[in-house]
Amino acid sequence: MSAHALYLHVPFCKSKCPYCDFVSFATRRDDPLMEAYINSLAFQIGEAAEAGLLEAPATAYIGGGTPSYAGESIVGLASRTASLGSLSELTLEANPESLTFDLSMMLRESGVSRLSIGVQSLDDAELSALGRAHDAKTARQALNRAVELGFDVSADLMCAIPLQTSSSWLDTLEGVLATGVSHVSVYPLMIEEGTAFARAVEAGEQVAPDDGDEALRMEEAEAVLSSYGFARYEVASYAKEGHNCLHNRAYWTGISYLGLGTGAASMFGREDFPALACAFPQLGMPPADAARIRLSCTTDRTYLAAHPALSEQSFEVEYLSLRESLAEDLMLGTRMSCGISPTLVSRARDVMGAQLDDCLSGLIADGYLVESLAPTRRGWLLGNELYGRLWELSSG
Ligand code: SF4
Repeated sequence: MSAHALYLHVPFCKSKCPYCDFVSFATRRDDPLMEAYINSLAFQIGEAAEAGLLEAPATAYIGGGTPSYAGESIVGLASRTASLGSLSELTLEANPESLTFDLSMMLRESGVSRLSIGVQSLDDAELSALGRAHDAKTARQALNRAVELGFDVSADLMCAIPLQTSSSWLDTLEGVLATGVSHVSVYPLMIEEGTAFARAVEAGEQVAPDDGDEALRMEEAEAVLSSYGFARYEVASYAKEGHNCLHNRAYWTGISYLGLGTGAASMFGREDFPALACAFPQLGMPPADAARIRLSCTTDRTYLAAHPALSEQSFEVEYLSLRESLAEDLMLGTRMSCGISPTLVSRARDVMGAQLDDCLSGLIADGYLVESLAPTRRGWLLGNELYGRLWELSSG
C-alpha cells in the first residue's frame, strides 16, 4: 500500500485576495524563493517514492496559491510528477492572468491533463471587489485556450459575492459554459477569520454574505448547469459525464494521500505506517489503537526551500482510532451525490452496531438523507448539522 493521490502545495500568489485564508503569500515574480521551493518539492517526490509512499499514485494535483504564477519553474515540477508514470489525472491550478499561451503549451507537453482555473466571476466590477488580479476578458481567453489545447478544464466560480445579482451570476455561468469547459466548481464566499474581508465586516464597512442569497445562487447554478448536461457529483462540483475530478474523490472516500509543501495535508491508514516511519522518522511511534494518521505540514516555505529532506519537515499530527476514521468517512460520504456506500455502512456497523442504524434512520427521518443514504438538498444546504450528527458516532 502507498498513497493513491499526491498533492503538491505551491503557496505563491501575485497578491493576496482579501477573502483568502489559504496558505498563500504575495510574492515578487522574480523572487528566487519560488524556484528553490519548487525544486525542493521535486526532490521530495523522489524521496517519498524511495521510501515506498508513492508506488503507483493514480492522481496528482499541483495546487496553491497560484502554481501558474511560478511560470516555467512549475513546468519542471509537473514533468517530475508526470514521470511517476502511474497517473491517470494530473491537475494544475492556474489563474487567468498568469496562464499565458506559452505556459499552457508547456504544461500540456509536460503531462498536465487537467487545469483548474480560478475564474470566480466574469463581471469586472465583481472581480475588482474580490481583489482579483484578472479581468473577465483574460479569464475567457484562458478558458478558451485551455479547452482548445485539449486540457480537461474546470472553471472555479464564487457566488454570494459583493455586487453580484441573479442576472450577473447567470451571465457568469453562461459565459463560462460557452467556452466548452467540462467541469465547474461553485463556492460561496465565506468570511474567514484574519482576512481583510473579515476586518471590513467587523468594522461595518462591508456586509457579510447572506445565507438566503447563498442558497439562491447555489440553486440557480444547479439549474443552469444541469440544463447544460452537467451533473452535481459533490456539494460544490459539477461535471459532464466522464469529467468528475478523480483526485478530489480521494479526499471523500478515505483512501490514502500524500501532501507535500507548506500547509499540505496527508492521510494514511495503519498499513502505511512502516513506509511513513521510513520517510518521516521524526513522527515517532503511533499509538497502539491508531487506525489512521493525518498530517499537516507546518514547515515554513523559506526553510523548506533550503532544507528539502522529508526528515527535516515539521507537522501537526493527528491520530484517529478505527471508530473515528469510520465516522469521518461517513461524514465525507455525504458530500457526494452518490452518498454513503453500502460497503462503508457494513464496515461501520461492525464497529458501531445499532448506534449507526439509529443515527442513519434519524437523518433520513429529519430529511438530511434519502433511503439510499445520498444527501438531500437540505442535507447539502445544512451540511454542518449533518456532519455534526455523523461525527457524534466517533465517540461511541
Ligand atoms: S489567488 Fe487564490 S490562493 Fe492566491 S490569494 Fe487569491 S484566493 Fe488565495
